[in-house]
Amino acid sequence: MKAEIICVGTELLLGDVVNTNAAFIAKGLAAIGINVYHQAVVGDNPKRLEKCLTDAFAENDIVITTGGLGPTYDDLTKETVAAHFGKKLVLDEKSLEQIKSFYDRTKRVMTDNNIKQAMMPEGCTILYNPNGTAPGCIIEEGGKVAVMMPGPPREMLPMFEHQVSPWLEEKFGGEGKLFSKTINFFGVGESALEARLHDMIVEMTNPTVAPYAKPCECQLRVTARAEDEQSAMALINPVVEQIAEIYPDNIYGYNYQTINEAVVDVFTKKRLTLCTAESLTGGLIAQKLVEISGASAVLKGGIISYTNEVKHGVLGVSQQILDEKGAVSPECALEMARGARKLTGADIALSATGVAGPTGGTEQTPVGRVYIAAVSEKGEVVKELNLSRGRADDREMIRNYSASHAHNMALKMAKLFE
Ligand code: ATP
Ligand code: MG
Repeated sequence: MKAEIICVGTELLLGDVVNTNAAFIAKGLAAIGINVYHQAVVGDNPKRLEKCLTDAFAENDIVITTGGLGPTYDDLTKETVAAHFGKKLVLDEKSLEQIKSFYDRTKRVMTDNNIKQAMMPEGCTILYNPNGTAPGCIIEEGGKVAVMMPGPPREMLPMFEHQVSPWLEEKFGGEGKLFSKTINFFGVGESALEARLHDMIVEMTNPTVAPYAKPCECQLRVTARAEDEQSAMALINPVVEQIAEIYPDNIYGYNYQTINEAVVDVFTKKRLTLCTAESLTGGLIAQKLVEISGASAVLKGGIISYTNEVKHGVLGVSQQILDEKGAVSPECALEMARGARKLTGADIALSATGVAGPTGGTEQTPVGRVYIAAVSEKGEVVKELNLSRGRADDREMIRNYSASHAHNMALKMAKLFE
């Protein structure tokens, strides 16, 4: 079964509104085993929408639209789709009643143009809208299905979840659903992964293997189509194991969005605490953890030791190291982490010191040279990174990568704990 998503709205074309509806619906359709090979965005223009519909139905059995169901003159989706199927619009009393009661509930006066929203294509299935005024609807005709939903996500999301998705599943279920497992990689790029796993990515059909690049990390999503989760996992797991054998050092977890989420999850499960001593990252290592809900159980605190005064005065980095080795040195990174651990009593301390650039680099310590340390009762590790790519946005990239490397080291250190 194939579907196309058409999002209607000039505001989408102008870039004023980000098309989150398409992403949401695409995910929802994948979850019930309906394939989407094409999506479209079209302005509030009936001629162009009609062209979109004709093109979409030439290739697909199902077309799902969002937007253009409202009361104003430029809301023309229902009219255009109904006309495409040669159907008239007729007044639906129940819809009108619901629109009236929505206005009563929200203590507003209903204007006459709202009646337009209760005019529905004859013979359609109506999708009532408890979160707004415009109902959605489904037209079925000659093996083709058109589903229309309102544009505002807070109306569309519940309508899709509670009405459209069950309707589609009931109608087209039985071909199996899609289940997937995400493998989270750190320290290996998307193109390297793709090159190494090329045959697998191209040849496999069930499950399929697809790489996704994210800032500072990447993922492989292994997706299988099956009757239920258990049979899907029976297809997915052997492939995941095969990939894990190829990359024993680069997989930090499964089914995470990002590495900071993994740190909070793993540390919470192991009841471990963390602290940071940050120079070039300026608090980013801690901040990315605080982004994740539940971080309070994990992160004790952090010290932003941007100057040598604070590295020495607060963290206790010896003046001799600062004078002889410099602030950007493995020795300094280690002492920063030790100092933070002593101050906070956390199980694991992370530190970062380096040259973010674009200025401040020397021959001995060039821009992009970073030292990250992780210190705990299980041991001490310090890693040298050389992150510069010589580009204008390197400063941000160097700081972000440094934070992610620190998170990766935290996860490796956490493995040493029971
Ligand atoms: P309304 O009754 O609010 O007019 P409608 O069905 O006519 O509903 P539109 O007028 O097309 O919907 O869109 C209303 C608002 O919904 C837009 O201004 C935008 O904020 C949001 N919206 C519309 N389409 C999308 C989309 N594809 N993704 C995210 N938001 C959207
Ligand atoms: Mg509108």
